[in-house]
Amino acid sequence: MTEAVAEHVDILIVGAGPVGMTLHLALAAGGLKSLLLDRRPQQAQQADPRALALSHGARQLIEQIAAWPARAATPIETIHISQKDGFGRTLIDRTDYDLPALGYVVRYRDLAGALAANLADDAVLSEAEILDITPGDDHVTVSLRHAGELRSIQTRLLVHAEGTPGDDPDVTVSDYAQHAVICEVTPTPGHNKRAWERFTPDGPLALLPLGNEYSVVFTLPPATADAVLAMDDAAFTAALQAQFGGRLRFTKPGQRSRFPLTLRLRDPLVKDNEVWIGNAAQTLHPVSGQGFNLGLRDAWQLAEILLADGVDRSSLTRYAAHRRLDRKGGALFTDGIVRAFSNDFAPLRVARGLGLLALDLFPPARHFVAKRMIWGGRAWP
Ligand SMILES: Cc1cc2nc3c(=O)[nH]c(=O)nc-3n(C[C@H](O)[C@H](O)[C@H](O)COP(=O)(O)OP(=O)(O)OC[C@H]3O[C@@H](n4cnc5c(N)ncnc54)[C@H](O)[C@@H]3O)c2cc1C
Repeated sequence: MTEAVAEHVDILIVGAGPVGMTLHLALAAGGLKSLLLDRRPQQAQQADPRALALSHGARQLIEQIAAWPARAATPIETIHISQKDGFGRTLIDRTDYDLPALGYVVRYRDLAGALAANLADDAVLSEAEILDITPGDDHVTVSLRHAGELRSIQTRLLVHAEGTPGDDPDVTVSDYAQHAVICEVTPTPGHNKRAWERFTPDGPLALLPLGNEYSVVFTLPPATADAVLAMDDAAFTAALQAQFGGRLRFTKPGQRSRFPLTLRLRDPLVKDNEVWIGNAAQTLHPVSGQGFNLGLRDAWQLAEILLADGVDRSSLTRYAAHRRLDRKGGALFTDGIVRAFSNDFAPLRVARGLGLLALDLFPPARHFVAKRMIWGGRAWP
C-alpha cells in the first residue's frame, strides 16, 4: 500500500450509473470536466435485469449527448390502464399527442452501455472504495482506495449519484411492503407496442413491450413474492396469467429477479459543496416508470445550471430550488397511485373504477396523466 497522493478535480461524481454518466456527458458537452467514481467494475451494469420505460422527453435529452440506444429501444404507442376485479379502464394513445411514441422501453444494460461507450478512457475510477468524505470551506476531500493505492481527491463539488441510499437521518423512508418480481415473457398475440398497467390488491402489475417480449414488473407482498420466485415456470406463468386476465397468453418466462420497494426521499438535497441526484436523491416505486426519468432530469438541470452559473455553492442552492416541484410531484404522483390502488377495499374499488372511467371519458384529465408520462416535470403548471 502506498501513501495517498493529493489530487484536484472541479467536479467529482460518486456513482457511474445511468444518472452519474448522464451528468458527466452533459457537462462534457458544455466543456466542463468531471471525474466519475464507482465501487463496481464498469461491466457489472451489464448484469442488471431491469427494463426502463423512458418518456419521450427523456429520449430527447439522451439524444443530445448522442447516447440514445435506438436499436435497443421499443416504442410504446398505447398504454392500457385497468384494475383487477373492477370496472373502468383508460387508454392513452400516441395519436392524441401527435408523437411517434408515448415513450420507449430499453434494458438498463443497453442504456448503461450506450452511455459508457461515450466516456473517455480516463473518465471513471472503477472499483474505488470511498474511505472518508471531509467537507471543507470551499471544497470536499474524498479519501479512497483504488487499485491498491490510497488516494485523496479534493473537489470543488461532490455529486452523489450512488443510487438508493441506506439509513441516513436526511432520508425519509416509507416501506410499501411490496416487492417487484421482474422477468421477461413472450405474449400471444404479439404486444403491438402496447404497455399495460393493471392495478391489483397485491400491487400494480406492469407489462412493457421490449423487442418481441413483455418485460413484466409483478408487484406483490413480500411473502407472495417469495412463493412466486420459488415456482417452476408453468406455475409462475399461471400466477401471472391469473393476475393479468385472459386478454393475452404468456409463455417462456425468463430469469426472475426481485426488488424490495420503498419510497426514499432526501431532504435537504444540498449541503455546502455536496449535492444528491437520481436515486440517491429520491428512490420511487416503479409504478408508471418515473424513477430514471426524474433522475435524468436531475442530471440535466444540474449540468445546465453549473454550465451557466459556474461551479459553486450558490449554483447548488439554485439547483435545489429548481428541482423541488418536479421531484415532489414525481414522488406524490407515484406514492398516491400505489396507495390508492393497492388494496381491496370495496368503496375504493368503485372510486377507482369511476376514476379510470372519468380519465377515459374526460380528455383533459387523461391528458394530464399522459403528459406526466411523456414530459415529466414539464407537465406541471
Ligand atoms: C423493478 C424496477 C423497475 C424500474 N422501472 C423503471 C422504469 O420503467 N422507468 C424509470 O424511469 N425508472 C425505473 N426504475 C428506477 C430506475 O431503475 C432508477 O431510477 C435508476 O436506475 C437510477 O439510476 P442511478 O444512476 O441514480 O442509480 P443506480 O442505477 O443505482 O446506479 C448507481 C451507481 O452507483 C454505484 N455506487 C453505489 N454505491 C457506491 C459507492 N459507495 N461508491 C461508489 N459507487 C457507488 C453503483 O455501483 C451504480 O453503478 C425501476 C426500478 C426498479 C427497481
